[in-house]
Amino acid sequence: MRLAKLPEEFQRALPVTNQIEAAGFEAYFVGGSVRDILLGHKIHDVDIATSAFPAEIKEIFPRTIDIGIEHGTVLVLQQEEQYEVTTFRTESTYQDFRRPDQVEFVRSLTEDLKRRDFTINAFALKDDGEIIDLFDGLMDLEEHVLKAVGDPHERFHEDALRMMRGLRFVSQLGFAFEVETFDAILENHALLDKISVERIYVEFSKLLLGEFRNQAISFLVETECYLYCPGLRHYGEALLRFADMKPLTFSSKEQAWTVLIEQMGMGQTLIRPFLKQWKASNELIQNVQALHWGLKIRQEKPLTNWEIYQLGLENSLTVEALAPFYNLTADLKKIEMQYEKLPIKQLRDLAVNGNDLLQTFDRKPGKWLKEILSQLEYQVVTQVLENDAKILLKTAQEILQAGEK
Ligand code: ATP
Ligand code: MG
Repeated sequence: MRLAKLPEEFQRALPVTNQIEAAGFEAYFVGGSVRDILLGHKIHDVDIATSAFPAEIKEIFPRTIDIGIEHGTVLVLQQEEQYEVTTFRTESTYQDFRRPDQVEFVRSLTEDLKRRDFTINAFALKDDGEIIDLFDGLMDLEEHVLKAVGDPHERFHEDALRMMRGLRFVSQLGFAFEVETFDAILENHALLDKISVERIYVEFSKLLLGEFRNQAISFLVETECYLYCPGLRHYGEALLRFADMKPLTFSSKEQAWTVLIEQMGMGQTLIRPFLKQWKASNELIQNVQALHWGLKIRQEKPLTNWEIYQLGLENSLTVEALAPFYNLTADLKKIEMQYEKLPIKQLRDLAVNGNDLLQTFDRKPGKWLKEILSQLEYQVVTQVLENDAKILLKTAQEILQAGEK
């Protein structure tokens, strides 16, 4: 098959493939971008595979960065663009069902395509628009089928992560597994035990954000792959409930993890240890903790000004945007207006600070300072008090006096 016209993104990369060819080597576009173009989806990065070895690529191009030279990948820098150029390779020695501990560079495109995971990921696109399809990937693409290249058992033994990748593609593309591929996942799911958390996390995060997440989560449970995902082992039923939610797409990782955790019925204190198992960043953990707190409230009733103040605008909007997942109506405008109208947006905006209190009241610094500030903050945000220094100091005095009685 030949594309009538080489899509714009690939045309822009032609100077790279042309130069490789001019030096006497082969160069093709490969991987997800070719699949996505054929599906009419937007593409994000154009990857190039070549018969040239990394050292040869570095001789051809003046500006390159070694980003994974041991795997054969060199980043070629063009004017505004950069392209990953990877030498054809086979992955010969697999130990422990993980990524190969050695890659072998080869000059044969066929060998390179044979080691790819699924038929729809194993196309090569020539610069004249011709699609090289050695494994009937075009047919599978048409039939919306995910089929391992070659013997699925062998392929999952070589690298068990491919099973999670398969589930991730189900979620992103809405495809179904070809029967033998599905059976091989069912049979080999326990090999995921050998895969690093980091690699599983990448695929699972993408799975959570896919449009067909519910189907993928159902397969995750059905194939029992979930047993080898950190912290999910005892949550098969919760995952099925999660898979039964409205088929709405999450717009961020934070949102997705928040709802997953909510469906798992996990309390606030378990969020950190759970996400730590996944080796999630502290930033993600903190955001999910805040969002989960807000979501539990939002499930019961609309957010109050005080809650919006505590969450901040961004997290409040994120929580509100989750309302439809729970058959509630999201009103983002209202949240924005509520936030806009807050008399202060942060403690710093309060008309008095700790120093003012120390200077006004003849007391040593201590717990009382924070307590008074918190009370003033609450009363200003909830509009019981005006944010005025005189009024706040007077109130502080009353609170202190009442405390002494
Ligand atoms: P995305 O659109 O998310 O980038 P992708 O298909 O491009 O999806 P990548 O992880 O970028 O996925 O990998 C690029 C290509 O490399 C894949 O299309 C596939 O051909 C091959 N590949 C990646 N990981 C594996 C693996 N674990 N086993 C076999 N082939 C793989
Ligand atoms: Mg890619």
